[in-house]
Amino acid sequence: MAAPKVAVVGAGVIGLSTALCITETCPSCSVTVLSDQFSPNTTSDVAAGMLIPHTYPGTPIHVQKQWFKETFTYLFAISNSAEASEAGIHLVSGWQVFKNTPKEELPFWSDVVLGFRPMSEAELQKFPQHRFGQAFTTLKCDCPPYLLWLEKRLKATGVQVYTRKVADLWELHSEYNIIVNCSGIGACQLVGDEKLFPIKGQVLQVHAPWVKNFIRDGDGLTYIYPGIHQVTLGGTREKDIWSLSPDPGTIQDIFDRCCSLEPSLQEAQDIKVKVGLRPSRQSVRLQREVFRQGGLKLPVVHNYGHGAGGFSVHRGTAKEAAYLVRECIAALQGSSSRAKL
Ligand code: FAD
Repeated sequence: MAAPKVAVVGAGVIGLSTALCITETCPSCSVTVLSDQFSPNTTSDVAAGMLIPHTYPGTPIHVQKQWFKETFTYLFAISNSAEASEAGIHLVSGWQVFKNTPKEELPFWSDVVLGFRPMSEAELQKFPQHRFGQAFTTLKCDCPPYLLWLEKRLKATGVQVYTRKVADLWELHSEYNIIVNCSGIGACQLVGDEKLFPIKGQVLQVHAPWVKNFIRDGDGLTYIYPGIHQVTLGGTREKDIWSLSPDPGTIQDIFDRCCSLEPSLQEAQDIKVKVGLRPSRQSVRLQREVFRQGGLKLPVVHNYGHGAGGFSVHRGTAKEAAYLVRECIAALQGSSSRAKL
């Protein structure tokens, strides 16, 4: 068969990284990205972009660890290259602090991040309301620059990128051989996935260049993540809320919670508010499916539902999705050579 045509629907971190992995894994394919929104208007643009995994209850831990490890290794190499500043990737050290000692003192990702260790008594003095803590170095993506960097790399490898809202994956049938669904929360409408739900998240971005270390409360709700130009202060988690409007009361609450961890933030300037909908599911949907209509077949690979942890695992899930695309190509080639016999 001629070069298989692959359409990737979605241009958040998952769609762009999946398209890139497909070009690397299946170099004979022609790849197109179709999306109704691009950076700076995706959920991925709102994320803090910290590499601290969220746990997916429906996915085995060794699989989640593998996804995180692939992502960490990939971004660590970028952070250690001349492209680090353009790609918005940097190392950041800091603390995760707990009011009570957690049941699991060694999270599954502790040997993937760098220098993971319990905090010393002297370090804990910075956090008088907390009794236990972990110190480590991880990576952070400044999300809009990273998305632009991915888009630039895609265009340089010949990937076509078009603005298009896809109402139904079947509408792509006559133009493409394989569809890759990376539509994030859009998959609720696009494929009617009832297991997918939004978790509204609100964060603040502030100018506070003296804050160099990250601080995360172990409950995951309050965090201070310094980026290259701004510090992200979080956050909120509101299940099943679809509104993208910021809540003024919440702005003050986030600010106060972060100031109680890092009092110097009282002097932060230029406060901006961002809201996004985490595409949440018990497990990421990373799956091959064949749509059938009459005698027609359309191979689809799903890669969505990354919830609160899309940046932390994006490269790992993108690679797995690219392997599924390779399987679809092998199946198509098998059926086209059988048809010729
Ligand atoms: P999106 O970025 O939403 O991309 C989906 C794409 O699909 C968009 O381009 C959209 O336009 C397109 N699309 C949808 N439907 C259609 C359609 N019908 N036709 C065409 N195109 C369509 N994760 C971390 O790992 N670390 C963090 O620190 C972190 N912080 C976060 C903070 C907040 C406040 C929020 C909200 C999220 C955070 N996340 C974090 C989670 C992370 O943002 C998500 O997991 C990730 O962005 C999901 O990426 P995505 O590409 O699947 O979705």
